[in-house]
Amino acid sequence: MQSPLSKKRVFRFAPSPNGLLHLGHALSAILNHDLAAAFGGRFLLRMEDIDPARSRPEFEAAIYRDLAWLGLDWERPVRRQSEHLAFYGEALERLKAMGVLYPGFLSRGEVKARVQVHEAAGGTWPRDPDGAPLYPTEERTFDRDRALAWIAAGRQHAWRLDMDKARALVPQVLEWSEAGAGPQGETGIVTARPERWGDVILSRPDAPASYHVAVVLDDAEQGVTDVVRGQDLFHATAVHRLLQSLLGLPAPVYTHHGLVPGPDGRKLSKSNQDTGIAAYRQKGVSPAGIRALLAGYGFVLH
Ligand code: GLU
Repeated sequence: MQSPLSKKRVFRFAPSPNGLLHLGHALSAILNHDLAAAFGGRFLLRMEDIDPARSRPEFEAAIYRDLAWLGLDWERPVRRQSEHLAFYGEALERLKAMGVLYPGFLSRGEVKARVQVHEAAGGTWPRDPDGAPLYPTEERTFDRDRALAWIAAGRQHAWRLDMDKARALVPQVLEWSEAGAGPQGETGIVTARPERWGDVILSRPDAPASYHVAVVLDDAEQGVTDVVRGQDLFHATAVHRLLQSLLGLPAPVYTHHGLVPGPDGRKLSKSNQDTGIAAYRQKGVSPAGIRALLAGYGFVLH
């Protein structure tokens, strides 16, 4: 029999401690917190500190400070991804055993140079939903022993998902339930098209699990039922659905919310000090003032 606890809806806010929280993060955090409260559910906070080169303890401390100042309360202990590398490593080994991972050796610069040559000759190179060129696929069929010898000799590499092989292992129609909306108003049952991302990186020597891997494993491990996050991650959900399907993980309901515009109409960034939560606090804005600002942008808070 299911325990009453397992029926509770579970929400999470999952920032990466690589900068200060801005108004867009405040929106995500408040929505998750308030929805959990409205449904009598749970609100978790997760530190997505999987990338050691970009994560800093002072940003983690600032996140706790800003969220507490906003009046939010979350369950303890906070899950920190850097403490679960072995857990992600097991899943990556499973994917390797399924034959859907391969080591890629081309640097970003090498790919860029190829794209330039191709486009200068009048060709078009396929790009992912974020506009980045897709990774060439020829290394999928490289001799594996030779590739492993290169890795052992210290050559730069990343483990990439062979999108075609992965796609062939999961149901052809891959969908998710969208309770918010995508950038083009996509809502309801959305068809996932992970192939638009090409052969994504799932592991690098310096960051042993990518965001995509860690996020789907953690959401499943923590029993997350509802993922509420910014629309900038809408298209990434296709990769998440693919990984969930490959790894036999449940799919949460996704709610992508609109992005808070920056002062110049551009996307808010963590490096922009002026729109940080801490900057508003220092200017004398109250937590209620932050909610009023968000409501002023048209976001419906509960
Ligand atoms: N860690 C991601 C970020 O800060 C968010 C991940 C998610 O909500 O799925 O952009």
